[in-house]
Amino acid sequence: MVQALDVHKRYGQLEVLKGINLEVRPREVFCLVGPSGSGKSTFLRCINHLEKVSAGSLSVDGELVGYRRHGNRLYELKESEIARKRAEIGMVFQRFNLFPHMTVLENVMEAPVRVRKEAKAVVRERAMTLLDRVGLKAKHDAYPGQLSGGQQQRVAIARALAMQPKLMLFDEPTSALDPELVGEVLDVMRQLAEDGMTMVVVTHEMGFAREVGDALVFMDGGVVVESGHPRDVLTSPQHARTKAFLSKVL
Ligand code: ADP
Ligand code: MG
Repeated sequence: MVQALDVHKRYGQLEVLKGINLEVRPREVFCLVGPSGSGKSTFLRCINHLEKVSAGSLSVDGELVGYRRHGNRLYELKESEIARKRAEIGMVFQRFNLFPHMTVLENVMEAPVRVRKEAKAVVRERAMTLLDRVGLKAKHDAYPGQLSGGQQQRVAIARALAMQPKLMLFDEPTSALDPELVGEVLDVMRQLAEDGMTMVVVTHEMGFAREVGDALVFMDGGVVVESGHPRDVLTSPQHARTKAFLSKVL
């Protein structure tokens, strides 16, 4: 579903990704962990076409989305193709970013109706099904401000799913939540994984990674330091940097 070959990303002189190689298989829950500033969000933004790779090749769903050699541009998607591809990828951020002046149901319906011009009746039915799935059908008429952080994040997940994405990206989806609200969001993500969604999850929730994850990559300083099955990496990390990081978050 995602294949990165020697992916580099540079902001001016600052090289943030220094040759990332990894592969996310269909239906896999792929956990990305690492210290702040290691390039995790940047990598997700490259997958989602919010950033262009500086060098290397990145393909999503079997389609090349960025391919460059150092200094020598070889391949890039057109803007119209980027918009189409981005609609196939759902993203959930640390901050829920719901539209405050719209109800829960309107938030979930917004993108399919406005971006994809789907019929309202069809989208409404799908949105209600999704709200049921995240346990918030009864709140469809509420405004985001009337919901807890955990409920808002569950709406954000339903909103991303409303576009029927092939791939879901989660960037620290529970980091901004009060501890007692983390579980309900992880439960929704666990259910989504059981339903077969391909997911790339940046998280510090190692319990989730161990129980739900199929693969785990530890990143530091823009490189993949270590990767493997979450159980193996978390119980017997091979590198000193991985050990040091895990001793802080476990
Ligand atoms: P992480 O998500 O692992 O905490 P990020 O991908 O957010 O790391 O950031 C990695 C590095 O890239 C940081 O040093 C950050 O300051 C830098 N960075 C991220 N986005 C930009 C940008 N748009 N311009 C310049 N530097 C950036
Ligand atoms: Mg980040």
